[in-house]
Amino acid sequence: MNIQDFFPDKFQITAIEQRITDIIISLQSQFQSANCPKCQSISRKIHSTYFRKVMDSSILSKPVKLHIQVQKFFCLNNSCQRKIFVERHPEFLGVYRRSTQRFEKMLIQLALTLSAESVARFLNQNGYVKSGCAVLNLLRKTYKTRYSHQHLKYIGVDDFSFRRGIHFGTIICDLETNRPIELLRSRTTKDFCDWLKQHPGIELVTRDRATTYTKAINTINPSIVQVADKWHFLKNALEIIKGIISNYFPKGWYIT
Ligand SMILES: [Zn+2]
Repeated sequence: MNIQDFFPDKFQITAIEQRITDIIISLQSQFQSANCPKCQSISRKIHSTYFRKVMDSSILSKPVKLHIQVQKFFCLNNSCQRKIFVERHPEFLGVYRRSTQRFEKMLIQLALTLSAESVARFLNQNGYVKSGCAVLNLLRKTYKTRYSHQHLKYIGVDDFSFRRGIHFGTIICDLETNRPIELLRSRTTKDFCDWLKQHPGIELVTRDRATTYTKAINTINPSIVQVADKWHFLKNALEIIKGIISNYFPKGWYIT
């Protein structure tokens, strides 16, 4: 087996160091040219090199860390604002990313099955250093760009507790996919108004009995159909049923 086969051709392996806790693979970029990310013109003029340290998938249960020597190029287009740029290879390693694409893909699959904190614990037990927040950020970055909100028509909105009993926000769900699609930092009318302004296609909102969301809907678009959500409908119905039944019991008897 040739480990080089697991890397792009022009990322040449220059050294492999097997340590007690991990494996370090050093790579060197051999690309002769690169496209400027600003103007897309090709440049063959190298400015300098520097090292990126990133995590990669493990080999036989040993964590793998890559030390990649990448290149900076001059942009030769005089009208371009970018004078120097770093070569980019998004299929292998994203811009500013600390892990290879294949490693990130594995983390995302795990995080969708388990949870961000569980993935972080799994990684830490297997020699990688990654926090739950970092895994969560990775999920956000991945799905923020893939999920368009512009098609939204039917949503559910409710309070959301960032910290139980202390810090509340607002959660918004797409009722067609049953997926949460937004967390607002507060549960104020203003913030929900701002969100509704950015989503003019909304036709129906399920909500609780509080006036916060009602005011926002009536302010931005009163034609939106407002529906008491199923949980609140059942809660209201139960309270009324309790009241009716209580009339048939002697005083001092309570229904819980
Ligand atoms: Zn350029």
